Amino acid sequence: MAVIRVHDKSFETYLSEATILQRVKELADSISRDYEGKRPLFIAILNGSFMFASDLFKQLNIEAELCFIKLASYKGMKSSGNVVTSIGLEDDLFGKDVIIVEDIVDTGKTLHNFLPKLVHQQPASLKIASLLHKSEATEFPLELNYIGFDIPNKFVVGYGLDYDGLGRNLKEIYQLI
Ligand code: 5GP
Repeated sequence: MAVIRVHDKSFETYLSEATILQRVKELADSISRDYEGKRPLFIAILNGSFMFASDLFKQLNIEAELCFIKLASYKGMKSSGNVVTSIGLEDDLFGKDVIIVEDIVDTGKTLHNFLPKLVHQQPASLKIASLLHKSEATEFPLELNYIGFDIPNKFVVGYGLDYDGLGRNLKEIYQLI
């Protein structure tokens, strides 16, 4: 098992490249089956999901569209918490079969805040594909339709996920020691 350093922290290998790619292929196969005859729009959430989105998209054998968006949160005027806005969502979602592509769902707060903005546009359907899910950390329950791996509540880096800006280029996923 390889140990690596990112900034001031040590991480050990948790999911190998082959394990990740095999699972991504399985998810792509399920999605291709479920959306046969349709043309879903994948909305990948930057930055973390870029590698997962790319590998997942490559493995689809149906027609599909892909766009990338960035979520920005800011403190609202009231103390009710963070409001999430999206940058880059230009497609009109009305009547489309939308699949959100996330790197990791932790507490669920990000998607919980963002989903209503998509629902508002009246897509024909709205599903979520997340490579990783920390189910133990759930605070905002969501229906996750395609999950790569349910992982323990420990910080991970690699395969698109960063620790303070670094580690995204790693082919494997590493867990904090
Ligand atoms: P949530 O809103 O579900 O609590 O958190 C989702 C976001 O938190 C993810 O998109 C990701 O940016 C960040 N996040 C949560 N857990 C981890 C982790 O273990 N590693 C990294 N790199 N980011 C994480």
